[in-house]
Amino acid sequence: MGECIFCRIVSGEIPAKKIYEDDLVLAFHDINPVAPVHFLVIPKAHVASMAELNAEHEAVMGRVMTVAARLAREQGATDGFRTIINTGRVGRQEVYHLHVHVIGGPDVLPAMLKR
Ligand code: 5GP
Ligand code: ZN
Repeated sequence: MGECIFCRIVSGEIPAKKIYEDDLVLAFHDINPVAPVHFLVIPKAHVASMAELNAEHEAVMGRVMTVAARLAREQGATDGFRTIINTGRVGRQEVYHLHVHVIGGPDVLPAMLKR
């Protein structure tokens, strides 16, 4: 966990453009945004991926989702947005600390996946 990049952002060891933080979650702008609005919401406590979730995470994941919705609005995504959680090899997860992407902006996003 010592080398987990998002844990290091939580601890302040690595800088990030933080948007919001409370006892359970942290939100910060993605370093490589794919749309005008692109931020990440993470549980502060390390969870490697969505595949590791269990009943003990219900409170923190509830907080992650409600914070994501409020911040999407506050960041200007008032006409919709997309949330993405990439999980594991098949989901092409790159950072193994669970994070919800919130992606939006003025324009309609491309189709979710190509058939
Ligand atoms: P994943 O593919 O794991 O769902 O996405 C990881 C995301 O984290 C990517 O969109 C990437 O740009 C972002 N990211 C990776 N390293 C950093 C970092 O050090 N700081 C910030 N703010 N975002 C990061
Ligand atoms: Zn971590």
